[in-house]
Amino acid sequence: MTLATEEHLRLLPKVELHCHVEGASRASTIADLARRHGVALPADNPADLYRFTGLNQFLAIYDVICSSLRTADDFRRITYEALEDGAAAGVRYREMFFSPGFVIRLGVDVATVWDGMRAGLLDARRDLDIACRLVLDFDKPSGVAHAEAMAEFAGAQDRDLLIGMGADSVERGIDHRAFAAAFESAARLGLHRTIHAGEDGPVDNIAAAVHELGCERIDHGFRLLDDPVLTGEIVDRRIPLTVCPTSNLMIANVIADLAEHPLAEQRRLGVLATVNSDDPGMMQFDIADEYVAVADAFGYSLEEMEQISLDGIEASWAPDEEKRALRARFEREFGELRGRFGLSARV
Ligand SMILES: [Zn+2]
Repeated sequence: MTLATEEHLRLLPKVELHCHVEGASRASTIADLARRHGVALPADNPADLYRFTGLNQFLAIYDVICSSLRTADDFRRITYEALEDGAAAGVRYREMFFSPGFVIRLGVDVATVWDGMRAGLLDARRDLDIACRLVLDFDKPSGVAHAEAMAEFAGAQDRDLLIGMGADSVERGIDHRAFAAAFESAARLGLHRTIHAGEDGPVDNIAAAVHELGCERIDHGFRLLDDPVLTGEIVDRRIPLTVCPTSNLMIANVIADLAEHPLAEQRRLGVLATVNSDDPGMMQFDIADEYVAVADAFGYSLEEMEQISLDGIEASWAPDEEKRALRARFEREFGELRGRFGLSARV
């Protein structure tokens, strides 16, 4: 068993499938945009902007971020910067969520959001060594009509840029099965489907997602192991979880210590559980930090961390040819890094 240094894990090539554009925004950028648009912020110093102790406070700051985003260029900027920061953390491929429900409530049109994000994505594809596609998350508390409208909107965009539909925000008090028609529309329009489920809500929300909403992935899935039969099905069908261990600690507060996280047990049982950061800007904790924390909490070897990275490729919605190319590149880079750190080749 080879143990990797922190530096090695930071440099490891990675895939990230659970990261929100808004939550990846830099505090300094939000402070700048708020000033420009005359929006009052709860903290004068950008460094104090992203301080929270739980989900409700987190969502309140999320609203502050969204109230600072008005123009297409604002959305272009946060998208591009999120990808700059992702590339710096070793991410080579990312499927990134955006959640227009928050800004639609504030009077910004979804087309404005998309125009900006699309531009940011295209600029990043030109400039940066990170491939990315976006996934539109509807806001569950905004209801069924909003979900349907978001499916229709997403379905009408370029599929190579906007690859899927998901859903986020709170789980409590939400009837997940009510979104079946919206997910059916998304499927009919050729969109991939995922949903935040079993984060601070019950495992039944994961069952609903898989059995009634036709979701191909589960975001978080923290509570999956509460249902061993469902776990077996998720293993057999290779339905990926996009797990965000530190987010569960910092935002959902469902664990007190990373070592209590079910990620290790999920992976031991054969679940295709990937590792992601969720909201790296707001948490001031990116996927490179996450890899270091996960390896430390579970005593994972370098081999296991490389496998986690490769599992991200399998769990992604990239076209098969792109997956093959990513795998070949990752294998090559794993070898180069091992050489650089004086370690034997991967077997
Ligand atoms: Zn999330």
